[in-house]
Amino acid sequence: MSPGRRFAGQGAAPGIAIGPAYLWPRRGQAGRAVAAAGSCRGEVERLSAAAAVAREGTREIVRQAGRTLTRAEAGIFEAQLLMLDDPNLVGRAEEAIRTGGLSAEEALERAGAECAAALLRAVPDESWRARAADVADVVGRVLDALAERPGPSLPSFDHPVLVVAEELLPSDIVALDREKVLGLVTQAGSPTSHASILARSLGLPAVAGVPSACELIREGDVVAADGASGEVVVGPDPVEAEDWRARQASRREWREGLRSRAHLPAITTDGHRIRVAANIGTPDEAETAFLNGADGIGLFRTEVFFMGRASLPGEDEQCGVYGEVIRCLAPRPVVIRTLDAGDDKALNLVASGGRAVRLAGGRSSQPASGHEDVFLAQLRAVLRAAAGAGEDGRAGVRRPGEAEVRVLFPMVANLADVVAAKALLARAAAELDARGVVRGEVKVGLMIEVPSAVALIGLLLREVDFVSLGTNDLARLTPGPAEVAIPTVLRLVAAVADAARRAGKPVAVCGELAADPRAIPLLVGLGVGELSVAPPLVPEVKEVVRTVSRREAAILAKRLLTARPAEGGTGDG
Ligand code: PEP
Ligand code: MG
Repeated sequence: MSPGRRFAGQGAAPGIAIGPAYLWPRRGQAGRAVAAAGSCRGEVERLSAAAAVAREGTREIVRQAGRTLTRAEAGIFEAQLLMLDDPNLVGRAEEAIRTGGLSAEEALERAGAECAAALLRAVPDESWRARAADVADVVGRVLDALAERPGPSLPSFDHPVLVVAEELLPSDIVALDREKVLGLVTQAGSPTSHASILARSLGLPAVAGVPSACELIREGDVVAADGASGEVVVGPDPVEAEDWRARQASRREWREGLRSRAHLPAITTDGHRIRVAANIGTPDEAETAFLNGADGIGLFRTEVFFMGRASLPGEDEQCGVYGEVIRCLAPRPVVIRTLDAGDDKALNLVASGGRAVRLAGGRSSQPASGHEDVFLAQLRAVLRAAAGAGEDGRAGVRRPGEAEVRVLFPMVANLADVVAAKALLARAAAELDARGVVRGEVKVGLMIEVPSAVALIGLLLREVDFVSLGTNDLARLTPGPAEVAIPTVLRLVAAVADAARRAGKPVAVCGELAADPRAIPLLVGLGVGELSVAPPLVPEVKEVVRTVSRREAAILAKRLLTARPAEGGTGDG
């Protein structure tokens, strides 16, 4: 028997899958009827009714996703919900109906394509490619509603399959039958697409970016895929198939070993402890973080818990939520980030009058400008929770001082931002004291995620107890493709870690880079003391840290960061 055909894609979600291929229907094959344009008014009404149906359908996905995914991942669909209200999409389509006499379908498809193209033109990188796929997902849902289809007719399987598709959209992934789908191979997509993020969180092995996969793989072909390396073999011979099964078994064994060591500290081979904390968006995730052995919460993205609500959570409700997280992890430290919402993270709070607030938001030198009341309420809630107070305001289960609570200010761009943020914190404390309400002490930290903050790091460090590097935003705000931007981000990390060491202040990394096994040795070598990652990744990140010698990693990091690109360096000598 001849050996199988080999293809190289990109590892998008780790794990090994072997099984018969199922070819996912191509988009458009379901036959999207393009209606002959009726009267303008009639078409606009059809579109608006279909958008309302799509909105309800998306809300249902958010509810379902909330049960199976973390809150942050369910946020992908909350963002899609906002797209349905974006004037650039449905509004633009209405305009095209009125001015171009198009049918609702044609107008929407055109608006969707323009919207996606505009996104990619604005920021031609992978994270925005993910948003373009979200636009396609949303447009597909409205088109289904226009055709009065109940929703995408999802394939059902009577035996386990490996799905092969041109592209899978986020809503395809959450609707997959987890009992029957072994893994995914797609032509399009990348490790940063939302579909890949969702596959990772569902533990579904996935390989993306396999050119012509749908032409080269036939229905029923046996396919073996490695979601870590991106390797795909179609029609493996018996020896190869045996080898893949052995790999699958050893990976399973490795994962079980990981789980048994998850609650032990992560110590480098030369004896340095690196704290591995978790990033969460809701209290449910705090439980997952605890079960996965997190050394604390390194980032509580509070805006996630503010999302998709008709009104803002008040001080008491917030105090209850923060208290729940603190108690869940006690005595480990919990870092609560104040609301971070801006151009890339919309909060739909119009109804309550507090729209798109971002503390010290890069575009505004006035922290929380116009929204002091929202931030003061949040800071009072944190201070009360830090005293162990429950929602009812009484001192609660945890005694003051039992766990360390830290407050983290995002998107700080300059010294004035920090001074104003600290003033708000002092004001919140004074207000509680005046009310005679029990409150705790909190440590204060800054997210370093805007390049100007790196330039000012020495000054900023004087003001705070710790800093946490937001490498997602640093990468987003650093021009150039990933192979140039990431090395530049690592140099920014090096500058911040160096300044923090001199100032004797701890430095953490809480962006996605902290979970990248290739970056972890470099971050440790640069002096980063805490890595904060998605809760399910904590055991694996700890395991990678255990293989690193900090001394050797420091030498390697220095060499890489000073080498020129041709020498395998970072690109700016
Ligand atoms: C970051 O920017 O790296 C970060 C952790 O914050 P967020 O992803 O929530 O913007
Ligand atoms: Mg950020």
